[in-house]
Amino acid sequence: MTTTIESFAGEDILSVNQFDRASLSAIIEIAHEMRVLVERFGGAELLQGKILANLFYEPSTRTSSSFTAAMQRLGGQVIPINNVQYSSVSKGESLPDTIRTLECYADVIVIRHPEVGAAATAAYYAEKPVINAGDGVGEHPTQALLDLFTVQEELKQIDGLTVVMVGDLRYGRTVHSLTKLLLNYNVSFIFVSPDILRLPADVLEAVKASGHSYSQVDDLHSVIGETDVLYMTRVQRERFTDLAEYDRVKDFYVVDQDLMAKAGKNMIVMHPLPRVGEISYAIDDDPRAAYFRQMRNGMYIRMALLAALLDKA
Ligand code: ASP
Repeated sequence: MTTTIESFAGEDILSVNQFDRASLSAIIEIAHEMRVLVERFGGAELLQGKILANLFYEPSTRTSSSFTAAMQRLGGQVIPINNVQYSSVSKGESLPDTIRTLECYADVIVIRHPEVGAAATAAYYAEKPVINAGDGVGEHPTQALLDLFTVQEELKQIDGLTVVMVGDLRYGRTVHSLTKLLLNYNVSFIFVSPDILRLPADVLEAVKASGHSYSQVDDLHSVIGETDVLYMTRVQRERFTDLAEYDRVKDFYVVDQDLMAKAGKNMIVMHPLPRVGEISYAIDDDPRAAYFRQMRNGMYIRMALLAALLDKA
């Protein structure tokens, strides 16, 4: 059965596996309308009277503040819990109890947590919709949706593209989610990483099973000429148990003017951010550098999702 945007009313957003092409097209279209709305009027009162609880057990700048901005631009309000060390979590409160508390006050709960599956646990205990804003090395579905929206806005197509994912493919949850989401489209993948940071087996298996063309290499310069979307990532220091290993791989790839000179003129460079050295500041003014536009798109996609979940899309 194809899902439509209406079928997301009251649902949780836990994984990109919940989406198909029809629902993705609908969300992309609504996000585009949200962009036009914000550019013309700053927002609308669609979610007036609604409250979002923003519960972050891990650091965040963009995800947390764009959910806040999305809710507020649609007339709703936010309970921000960005420092769990100052909440009852530091007194030893369990995740189910924290969730049961927040849903007494809010209509939707956004959660980021260091453990894979934590958002699903939260959703199990909550009656209200729960949105996974990153569960450890698991998934980051709303990032993948904004990444997909960015590709569509920038290149006006998704089918037919060669998407090159670079860096920490092992621990980077945005790579896991975006790769799985792109399986809905006719794209080719090139996965560029050092050996120890290759894609997890389950994600690679999903790519193989889908029949999409893909390759795994460790040299970025040799594939840059055939790249349509260059998706850079940071090596996820916080996921390493051995920091000497992190030090060995952290500076493997850098997008600089030398690399960009070999890239096509219509390709784009994306990054979920934060960057910590893998994109030179010298290319920020290159029109192909899409990462700042990408982060703005996060607000539009989250406006679209909140409207859909709260049945106002
Ligand atoms: N902000 C993204 C995330 O939360 C990417 C990153 O942290 O590297 O997964």
